[in-house]
Amino acid sequence: MIWSLVKIILFVCAVAAIALGAGFLLESQGGVQVVVAGTEFTLGPLESVIALVLLVFAVWVLLKLVGAVIALWHFLNGDETAITRYFARNRQAKGFDALAEGMMALASGEGRMAMTKAAKAEKYLKRPELTDLLTAQAAEMSGDRRKAEQSYRKLIQNEQTRFVGVRGIMKQKLAEGDTATAMELAKKAFALKPRHAETGDVLLKLQAQSSDWAGARNTLHTKLKTGALPRDVHKRRDAVLALSEAKQVFEADQTIEAREAAIEANRLSPDLIPAAVMAAQAYIEQGNKKYATRVIKKAWEAMPHPDLAATFAAIEPEEDAAARLKRFQTLTKLHRDHAETRMLLAELHIANEDFPQARRDLGDLFETDPTARVATLLAAIERGEGAPDNVVKGWLTRALTVPRGPQWVCENCLHIHANWQPVCENCESFDTLAWIKPPMAEVAMPGSVGMLPMIVGNPEPQPAPDLAMIEDAELLDPDAPDDPTENQRT
Ligand SMILES: [Zn+2]
Repeated sequence: MIWSLVKIILFVCAVAAIALGAGFLLESQGGVQVVVAGTEFTLGPLESVIALVLLVFAVWVLLKLVGAVIALWHFLNGDETAITRYFARNRQAKGFDALAEGMMALASGEGRMAMTKAAKAEKYLKRPELTDLLTAQAAEMSGDRRKAEQSYRKLIQNEQTRFVGVRGIMKQKLAEGDTATAMELAKKAFALKPRHAETGDVLLKLQAQSSDWAGARNTLHTKLKTGALPRDVHKRRDAVLALSEAKQVFEADQTIEAREAAIEANRLSPDLIPAAVMAAQAYIEQGNKKYATRVIKKAWEAMPHPDLAATFAAIEPEEDAAARLKRFQTLTKLHRDHAETRMLLAELHIANEDFPQARRDLGDLFETDPTARVATLLAAIERGEGAPDNVVKGWLTRALTVPRGPQWVCENCLHIHANWQPVCENCESFDTLAWIKPPMAEVAMPGSVGMLPMIVGNPEPQPAPDLAMIEDAELLDPDAPDDPTENQRT
């Protein structure tokens, strides 16, 4: 506001000054006399000033002309000038346009078009690190593997783009199934960029697949150091790897190292069931029952699990049912309402031939959470209490039609495993097995009445034919050996 005012005042002052100056010149005497080729010009004061201004303008135009001629001369000589710069800018603009079009084509899935545009961009831009990348991706999209690999190899030569090149070829080798080469490339890429999460995961997966547990633990440790992995995930995965290492050592019968590794795994992740089981087994072998009990108790505290109960039973293989029931109180007093604890108690009471107590332990478990295990336990209780055969068989057939309860399920592909393992059998993912209920996608089975209508469906007891079911029921006999959960888990 004030500045505008100042400008207006200055302008008015300037106009006034010019008017004053012109008036002064008009009124003043004298002038300039110029003689050109014998002719004399006499200029008044105002004319002299105008002539001076014109002269200055003429000199300026002359200088510009000389500059243009010099630039033209340089251009013809091939030197860099404003003219060449103009053309270079033009070429660059065309190159970037082609690059942008290529990227658009890539994004819309037109591989061939993207390759053409990349070639055009390369011609104008001469920036191979940009255009090679586009070419490689376009070639891969249109299925031209050779061209893609060529472009990735070019990228490897440039330090700035080396990682992209290595990663590209690694992905190609993975797709081809050449895991050995892929692993070498993954190691190289991981060394170039340890913070790159995807490369780390690929390397880890490849190492786990090839049972290179020590290498995988190294990778995991680097990931932790570079902050690419949260500490708790690292702890769990490292425990899985330590456990796998121990498993491998077990197979080679090197028990001392195995024991230590298994215990180490257990220390890092006490809630990991397989680690606890292996550690406890190592202690049992050692004759250290106290530590074995401690390990299992700690794991049961984290999560009740049939594998833990089986291992806990194996600590005292010779004891009778009553002694076992007493010893198991260490576990059963924890998580009293957990389904696993209730089923364990029922089993222990069935073994002790206290069937009414076993029934009380199960309570309404079949109504709230029907599983094959509960139905089988109920069949055993009915049989122990002397119920008619059709009632027992009714429970056994029901066991076939209800969900099977939690299993070791791969969270990635939902494949069900009989035993825990570090790498999924089906999709080869690392550390994806979890103890969860598989989604119900089982074959539709007729209900128990539909399956055995002559036996289960008839209210009158019938002379039963000799079915395999009866043998199954006998497997549940109270004298079952030291693994109380085995029959129900298959
Ligand atoms: Zn899987």
